[in-house]
Amino acid sequence: MEETQHTLIVGDDATRFAARMGFTETSLTNVRSQTRWEEWAAKGEPTDAFNPEPFDKDELRGHDTVGTIALDAAGNLCVGCSTNGREFKIPGRVGDSPIPGAGAYGDQEVGGAVATGNGDVMMRFLPCYQVVELMRQGMPPDLACQAALKRITDRGYKFGGGIAAIGVDGQHGGAQAGWDDGGFSYSVRDASGNSKIWVSPQPTR
Ligand code: ASP
Repeated sequence: MEETQHTLIVGDDATRFAARMGFTETSLTNVRSQTRWEEWAAKGEPTDAFNPEPFDKDELRGHDTVGTIALDAAGNLCVGCSTNGREFKIPGRVGDSPIPGAGAYGDQEVGGAVATGNGDVMMRFLPCYQVVELMRQGMPPDLACQAALKRITDRGYKFGGGIAAIGVDGQHGGAQAGWDDGGFSYSVRDASGNSKIWVSPQPTR
C-alpha cells in the first residue's frame, strides 16, 4: 500500500511483484517442516482440509502466526502478522493473516489487534476489526478480545485462537479460546523492558 493503490496482490503475480520491489525469492521450507510433510505424505492420507470446518472439535494442526502491534510515543500505530498458515493445507489456500480485520487490524485513532489460531474459522468473523471497534466504543482491550472470540464460539465453533490488543492509550489485553491446556501469552515491551503476560493457564507440559 506504500508502493501502489492496491491492498492485495496474490499468487504468482504477487511473487513477480515482490521481486520487482527488490525481495529475493527463497524457500520457506525448513528441515522440520520438510520432515513433517514427508511423514504425512508417506501415509497417503488426504488432508483434513477437504472436509468442511468441523464445528465440534478443532482439527487445526501446526500453526504459528506471530502478530505485532507497534505504538510509538507520537501515537503512530502499526500492526502486522506473519503466517506459516496451516499444515497440510490445500495449495492456494489464503489464511487470515493478509485479510485486513481478520489476522490484524489497526486504527490510528483507537488501537490495534492481532490474532493467531485457526484462521479458516476466525477470518469468517473479522475478529481483529471487531476488537478495535469495541475499543472505539470504550471497551477495555481484554474484554474486547473476549467478546470477539465469544462471537465465534457462540456460533458453535470449537476452535483454537488467541487475540492480543492495545489501545493508543497504552492499555493492552488479550484473550484465547480453546487453548485452556496449552496457554496463550503475549509480550509487551516498553521503555522499561519486556514482560510476558499470560491470558490463560500456562502450559503444564
Ligand atoms: N492464523 C494462521 C492461519 O490460519 C495460523 C497460525 O496462527 O499460525 O493461517
